[in-house]
Amino acid sequence: MVGAVTSSPATSGDGPAPVAFDDAMRSYEPVLGLETHVELGTASKMFCSCATAFGAEPNTQVCPVCLALPGALPVANETAVESAIRLGLALNCSVASWCRFARKNYYYPDMPKNYQISQYDEPLCTDGYLDVTVDTAEGPREIRVDIERVHMEEDTGKTAHMGGTTGRIHGAEYSIVDYNRAGIPLLEIVTRPIEHTGDLAPQVARAYVTELRDLVRSLGISDVRMEEGSLRCDVNVSLMPRGADEWGTRSETKNVNSLRSVERAVRSEIERQAGVLGAGGRVVQETRHFQENTGGSVSGRSKEEAQDYRYFPDPDLVPVAPGADWIERLRAGLPELPAAKRARVKAEWNLADEELRDLVNAGAIDLVAATVDAGASPDEARKWWLNELSRRATETEVELAALPITPDQVARVAALVAEGTLTNKLARQVVEGVLAGEGDPDAVVEARGLKVVSDDSALGAAVDQAIADNPDAADKVRGGKVAAVGALVGAVMKATKGQADAGRARELILERLGAQ
Ligand code: ADP
Ligand code: MG
Ligand code: ZN
Repeated sequence: MVGAVTSSPATSGDGPAPVAFDDAMRSYEPVLGLETHVELGTASKMFCSCATAFGAEPNTQVCPVCLALPGALPVANETAVESAIRLGLALNCSVASWCRFARKNYYYPDMPKNYQISQYDEPLCTDGYLDVTVDTAEGPREIRVDIERVHMEEDTGKTAHMGGTTGRIHGAEYSIVDYNRAGIPLLEIVTRPIEHTGDLAPQVARAYVTELRDLVRSLGISDVRMEEGSLRCDVNVSLMPRGADEWGTRSETKNVNSLRSVERAVRSEIERQAGVLGAGGRVVQETRHFQENTGGSVSGRSKEEAQDYRYFPDPDLVPVAPGADWIERLRAGLPELPAAKRARVKAEWNLADEELRDLVNAGAIDLVAATVDAGASPDEARKWWLNELSRRATETEVELAALPITPDQVARVAALVAEGTLTNKLARQVVEGVLAGEGDPDAVVEARGLKVVSDDSALGAAVDQAIADNPDAADKVRGGKVAAVGALVGAVMKATKGQADAGRARELILERLGAQ
């Protein structure tokens, strides 16, 4: 059945017991397929001029076109077409010189036209690839994921089922629909079946979605926030016995809303299917719903076939026929893509494989690069983003880029350390102040009085006090044991709450004690 409102009870636990991943891998070879939807960040919708801002009051961003009122006619959004071409080019695809939109017919209350405008047998971009890297015990391994197509379509509205306890239609008293999202432009990126990944399959799936997200982000065409749904991923998995040459039946897991979940979804589906096959059963072609809380999935609907949708070319829209000059202009305007950027910074900053990997895993390359552009040394910039700031991001559960500090501000802190105005310890306090919203680094230094104290009159009193308080150490220094000066410098630092210029304090102490 097509597009039915479904909410079958959880069937995880119903089927045969899953087989542990490593055991499954001994008997089967997985095949993956990833379908990713990217919601574009265009100012207006795909076929009308309604606004697209996230989080607006329900049904305030709608018009006759996206509500499908009689007589309303769609017109394709040029920026959305351009975004699709740019992504296609970045994915090494061919761009069609002529293609059409198609109607995908099915009923769902969040889709007022009763069909979705999509592309079917004439996608805009085809036959590309994306290289991804996964870590293995033998070092990084690069895997080429072939891209079947990138096509354009429109998003649906959102239905909410009210009055029940689960938010699902079963047990609900009524449902309400918000059409703000209906008609927002989407790109769907479909991979060809990904074979021969063996036990790396879960990691490959995650690495692919991560790489695609970073690629889309670098193009500036979407904010690709999985948690807000602007990047959504359907994960297809099948198993075949090792050595077989025919793929098994796939399931398609939806609702996979984080990178971690992509990896977990593949892993748990491999374990589930191995359980089914091992017990002599057959995998059913179906959609499944990922469950964040368990890391498993539950059965949705049995899979519809393309013919069920009665696709046909949409007669309301003119064909899309991008000229070669337009495509070449877009190609020339592509930014430096993530893979090229990684290779460049690795060489420019002289990084080892692991150092680059840490930067990538922390999602810090762009931030570090911007900090370097603002004048910091690569080492200093990396140190800040990977240590102090990564720790902060983890603690406060935000992405590194979402921390309330800019690369310019980090570069300024690094400069203050380099010129001797701040010690590392003081610098951390300045960063803390910036993160707490106390203003720019200079303002925080001023307001918190964090400058290194290096002028002799201010230091002198602390030095005299330290000598008076530590007569034993002072005597040793007088007697020629210069190493004992450390205790006295420590006392000065303590008395000045870490703000003394340690080098200058040391000089003054040695001077006072006649040990120079
Ligand atoms: P549908 O719209 O029915 O989901 P698509 O062709 O759009 O079909 O996408 C199916 C995805 O699953 C593609 O990424 C495809 O490469 C992949 N795929 C196809 N057959 C298999 C299989 N046997 N095992 C795993 N993945 C598969
Ligand atoms: Mg699909
Ligand atoms: Zn509209």
